[in-house]
This record gives sequence, structure tokens and C-alpha cells, in this order.
Amino acid sequence: MSIHGLVNEMATAQKTRRTPLRSCVVCRQPSDKKTLLRVVRAPEKDGGGVSADPSGKANGRGAYVCASAECIDKAVKQKRFERALSASPLPSTLAEELKALSAKVTELEVLTEKVMAAATSTGATAT
Ligand SMILES: [Zn+2]
Repeated sequence: MSIHGLVNEMATAQKTRRTPLRSCVVCRQPSDKKTLLRVVRAPEKDGGGVSADPSGKANGRGAYVCASAECIDKAVKQKRFERALSASPLPSTLAEELKALSAKVTELEVLTEKVMAAATSTGATAT
């Protein structure tokens, strides 16, 4: 690779690093340490409603919470989403929606761990 290409690549990497770190509205754990669920406030033209965003790609202002019942409960009780998104009121089903999502995420993580463990043990026996 040419030096020019390398410099370009470093510049790109720096730009990527500058994106704000997503962190939980309750405990402030960043997303590289925890799985975070996104809550989004739709743009005004779309009604400005707040909802859980399983895709993580919905348009609008986002706030994040850990995929744990503890943080979800605290976020709702302490009105963290209202503050983070300057929105109110929140749909009464939001906590339930988020908990359902967090259960799915946890399931997926356990599954991934099992698959990884299986892959590792197969690899170990093959050699
Ligand atoms: Zn949290």
C-alpha cells in the first residue's frame, strides 16, 4: 500500500472514532461493554412519537439503554428517555417492549456463546 493510501486510511479511522459513543441513559455503560437497545423519537413531521427501535436504524433522535430489566425500569421510572429525547409522554408499553427486546437479545447472546463454544471445541478435537 502507498503512503498516500495509508494516510487516507488513518484519516478515515479518525473520523470514525469521532462519532459520539452510545451509552446507556441510566448507568452510562458504553455500547462496547454492553448490548444497548435504541429508543427513538420520530421527527416532528412523523408525529414525534417515542418507540423502541429494534433495527437501530429508524430516523429521529435516539437514546440508548442496556438490554437489562434493571436499566429499563430505572430509565422509565426516572424519566431518562423523556430527558434524553426531550419528549413526553412516553407510550405506556415502552418498558414492556424494551424488556421483550432485551429478552430476545439475551437469548441471542446465549445462543451465540453456545455456537462459539461448539465451534471452538470442534476445532480443538479436529487438531
Ligand atoms: Zn444501563
